[in-house]
Amino acid sequence: MLTIFGTVALDTTRTPFHTVERTLGGTATFASISASNYTPTSLIGIVGHDFPESYLQLLKDRLDIRGLTINQTENTFHYDSSFDYDLAKRTTNKTELNVIANYQSTVPEEYIDSEFVYLANNDPVQNMNILKLFSGPKLVICDTMDFWIINKRDDVMKLINKVDGIMLNESEAKLLFKETSTLKCARLLVSNGPSFAVINKGENGSLLFHNNEFYPLPAFPTEIIKDPTGAGDSFGGAFMGYLSQQEKWGTMTLKNAMIYGNIMGSFTIEDYGIQRLVSVKAEDIKKRHQKYKEIFTF
Ligand code: AMP
Repeated sequence: MLTIFGTVALDTTRTPFHTVERTLGGTATFASISASNYTPTSLIGIVGHDFPESYLQLLKDRLDIRGLTINQTENTFHYDSSFDYDLAKRTTNKTELNVIANYQSTVPEEYIDSEFVYLANNDPVQNMNILKLFSGPKLVICDTMDFWIINKRDDVMKLINKVDGIMLNESEAKLLFKETSTLKCARLLVSNGPSFAVINKGENGSLLFHNNEFYPLPAFPTEIIKDPTGAGDSFGGAFMGYLSQQEKWGTMTLKNAMIYGNIMGSFTIEDYGIQRLVSVKAEDIKKRHQKYKEIFTF
């Protein structure tokens, strides 16, 4: 069983071409919807009284949401960000933690023996606390981002030490170590405990560091890009969802998981918020996987 813990959010996303306000987002939302294409997925998170019923239904249709708390007195976590013209650089306008701020996360009894746990980007202290509540997961992967690196760096480092795999985007990895080389960042991440690190580089693909080797993989080429929000989380969810279906997690398996991560990220950026991700069918994934193999085999 795969359980994903992270934020379930209302996102306001501004690009030079279009703005979407208070649309369904959050790291756990993207990651778990993406993962559910590979394996049944359970979600742990919290939303507020302003969370629309239609979003709740959308999650319910795809996921086990017995771990989703609804706080009737506070607002849902709200993230407001803007992208520049090339849709590569994101600026955070506002992070309103709301229900997240004092959330005492719990694991429903039915999820306690989850073998696979994905700690999507969230407060690192909450991530460490919830990890203690599982009975003994076989594989734990976490993600983090600039907000937590800036505000709780020591806790981010402690969290990294407790997981089997760490996933980060390139600028965040560089921020974490004040380091300019992505490869060095990957090595530093692994030297802090996990057995592998994955660094996402947007349209430049992703990098795996495992068993003292670097494996750069290209992104799936798509000409449509509207909103990169959630691409990293969709990558992470697919990566973990695929791994949860495998017996062992050697380099070859990790590379295959990255291909599925790249493919799900490529869908997410094609529309605002979760719109494209929720319309993905098994057949679409199969086609992109086939195409990926054709393009990158020589
Ligand atoms: P990504 O684009 O994959 O890095 O993640 C985008 C998602 O992260 C958005 O849907 C936000 O709701 C969520 N998010 C933004 N800031 C934070 C934060 N500080 N902690 C947890 N989630 C966040």
